[in-house]
Amino acid sequence: MLVANWKMNGSETMINNWIEGIKSVPKNIQSKCIFCPPSCFLYQASNLIKEKNLEICLGAQDVDPVTENSLTGGISAKMLKNMGCQYVIIGHSERRNYYGEKDPLLLKKILAANSEKLEIIFCIGESLEEKKKEKTFEVLKRQISIITNVEKAKFFIAYEPVWAIGTGEVAEIQYIKVVHEMIKEELRNVDLKGFNGIIYGGSIKSDSAKNILAMENVDGLLIGGASLKEKEFSNIVINTLLN
Ligand code: PEP
Repeated sequence: MLVANWKMNGSETMINNWIEGIKSVPKNIQSKCIFCPPSCFLYQASNLIKEKNLEICLGAQDVDPVTENSLTGGISAKMLKNMGCQYVIIGHSERRNYYGEKDPLLLKKILAANSEKLEIIFCIGESLEEKKKEKTFEVLKRQISIITNVEKAKFFIAYEPVWAIGTGEVAEIQYIKVVHEMIKEELRNVDLKGFNGIIYGGSIKSDSAKNILAMENVDGLLIGGASLKEKEFSNIVINTLLN
């Protein structure tokens, strides 16, 4: 799967242009793409996808943890489902860092998403400091355990080293290999019918995408900055997924 995470970028015009550009991607590989615009543009994106008969999937960048309470400004899993989302990103490091989102809150979000059968893209990753202190595996194991404790969750693990997000610094192939192997191993001991694969993210561009996606234990890419321009994203999709 190739996930286009627009973060807090976009406008009505950008959405129109992007969806128009994605039409050039063959339909059989469109279905391997997940478009995650900001929540205020989900409805527009959803309508355009239907109108233009595209196969691309829609995902949200976050979900609120409560399903029935009053929560001013909140967006529930049910609302996301209603807008046409099949996927939701949970635990992105930017939210963990800016909003102090910690494991107990992330668990509630996972449960909320699960209750509406939204498929979860669960982000994990170590900071530069944790990497330097050789705590990567310890941190990742703890983060992984949050989702593996949820019965019947359907999910991808998105491994995104925090130091590689938006920095232009892609992790080295060998590093990705070792970490993805460790994640796979960690998941091997759990009964995980809903586990759909491990995605890598962190400054992916068209020149690095193909080699990384070709690796064993890399089942997809989470792409931020390089997904904003329809041409660059379409090129990544065509170069990596079209044989
Ligand atoms: C991301 O949005 O999770 C991400 C990896 O961003 P970028 O590709 O810009 O580093």
